[in-house]
Amino acid sequence: MRPTVNKFFSYYKPYLSMFISVLACSLITSVATLVFPLLVRYITKDVLEGDLSTALNEVYWVGGLMLVLVAIQNIGNYFVDYKGHEIGARMESDMRSELFAHMQKLPHSFYDKEKTGRLMSRITNDLLLLSELYHHGPEDYMKYLVRFVGAFSILFFINAPLTIAVFCFLPFLGLLALYFNKRLNKAIRRNKERIGDVNAQVEDSLSGIRDVKSFANEIVEIGKFDQANARFFESRKITYKAEALFYNSFETVIQLITITVIIFGSASIVNAALDLPDLLTFLLYIGFMIEPIQRLNHMSTQLQEGVTGFQRFMEVMNLKPSIENKSNAIILPEIHGEIEFRQVSFYYEEHLDRVLQNISLRIQPGEYVALVGPSGAGKTTLCSLIPRFYDAIDGEILIDGINVRNIDLESLRKRIGFVLQDVFLFAGTVMDNIRYGNQAASDEEIIAAAKHANAHDFIMNLPNGYDSEIGQRGVKLSGGQKQRLSIARVFLKNPPILILDEATSALDNESEKIIKASLELLAKGRTTIIIAHRLSTIRNAGRIIVLTEDGIAEQGTHDELLARNGVYANLYATQF
Ligand code: ADP
Ligand code: MG
Repeated sequence: MRPTVNKFFSYYKPYLSMFISVLACSLITSVATLVFPLLVRYITKDVLEGDLSTALNEVYWVGGLMLVLVAIQNIGNYFVDYKGHEIGARMESDMRSELFAHMQKLPHSFYDKEKTGRLMSRITNDLLLLSELYHHGPEDYMKYLVRFVGAFSILFFINAPLTIAVFCFLPFLGLLALYFNKRLNKAIRRNKERIGDVNAQVEDSLSGIRDVKSFANEIVEIGKFDQANARFFESRKITYKAEALFYNSFETVIQLITITVIIFGSASIVNAALDLPDLLTFLLYIGFMIEPIQRLNHMSTQLQEGVTGFQRFMEVMNLKPSIENKSNAIILPEIHGEIEFRQVSFYYEEHLDRVLQNISLRIQPGEYVALVGPSGAGKTTLCSLIPRFYDAIDGEILIDGINVRNIDLESLRKRIGFVLQDVFLFAGTVMDNIRYGNQAASDEEIIAAAKHANAHDFIMNLPNGYDSEIGQRGVKLSGGQKQRLSIARVFLKNPPILILDEATSALDNESEKIIKASLELLAKGRTTIIIAHRLSTIRNAGRIIVLTEDGIAEQGTHDELLARNGVYANLYATQF
């Protein structure tokens, strides 16, 4: 708990002097506001009931003082509103950057569990609520405390019995605020859930619109949507009812207080225990005592939402990146590209049954090895251990004889290139997307890489060539074109180790042929592991390793494995 609290306040640190000036300003304006009714009392009581021959002069003086107070209040509030919010926004922005940087370091296992949408709301909504709390929290509490205590003391000084009478009403207001606070918070939370349901329904239905239409299920979708929409409406209705009830019962008590003051005040005037100016002062100050209670509701919601936001922020920040550099990590020198698995076992965190069991395997520098086997055997998993996307549970993986756990992560991952079945292209131009393979590459190097990947011609046919935008608002590329860009990326990266995981599985025969040629070019001179479903793709690999759920079942060349008449021969027979 304590470290969390310290962490919460640590974000004030860079802006401490600014923050203290904002608080001081807020204190000054609060006091200035408090003085105002006192001046009214001074005019009505001391000046107008005194010697009228000098009164006018004094009235002008007080008027001047009021102008000064107004200036102090509004300039002060301007500073508080502007700079206060700026500090909140700066703190929020610092936290957002910190969170994003931290997320970049978290390993694959984290992203297996977390949904992107939820992570995005952490980066945006949660922190927005927090910036409000950081800024308004201390400032509001101070402002309302000063006003309440100030007004109470002044009124008590003017007329104690009437002040106590007013004070007796306050617990009711407090209880009312607390009761409705709970009810309103619940209602607001329900609103958020229900609007979330509406959004989910829209997203689900619209992203699957082609299936909706092909199954002619529009009516079903409309029905589901209307249901979610109606539920959202119901919950808003309840919220509005609670709000209306709250504001108006509160208002009723406030009016009761005012009536009490007028009636008892007038009675006191009749009994000569109070005079008219003091009654006026009373009426002016009542608001100062009531406002903090009225705001209690808002402030407690702000606190709750801010604290929840901070907890959600810390939930992610407290996750240690489980795959990190050791303190004396080795920067990998130029490597030959030998890969060795020694008795490697692995399972995914949440599924305890082993995916890989005691795998031992040695791949020579420059070797072209195919990995085949039934789907789910662990081929992809095995390859993802080499760049340490996951760490093996048992055993060691070595590159050129060095345990990957001892290698600097960046230098390790720079030496390994992947071409996968699904290609991810980032928002940006074709040029930017190829440059992702090597940020330092020149335009000429990028064009050369695209030519190697058989991508140059189709790129030149795009509306803006290499400067064509890709993605939502840009050009749409076919699966084969995307794959060629991803191959160009790896050409540019130029890694000594290459992993091709079902790189052509999703493509039609025509694209496969073109891409196979560029993959063969890419594999030249690199240690290559190729995973392929279609055995025709890997027939001429130097060595074929057959991985099943029980481990490495057999290995050898295509002809050797056929002659063995084992798992491979079986797989082959089913495909041809
Ligand atoms: P292959 O590439 O041979 O088809 P995978 O390595 O993808 O097999 O998967 C091996 C096993 O591990 C499968 O049972 C699969 O369901 C499981 N698996 C794969 N990826 C994950 C993951 N990220 N989290 C949990 N289980 C996974
Ligand atoms: Mg796979």
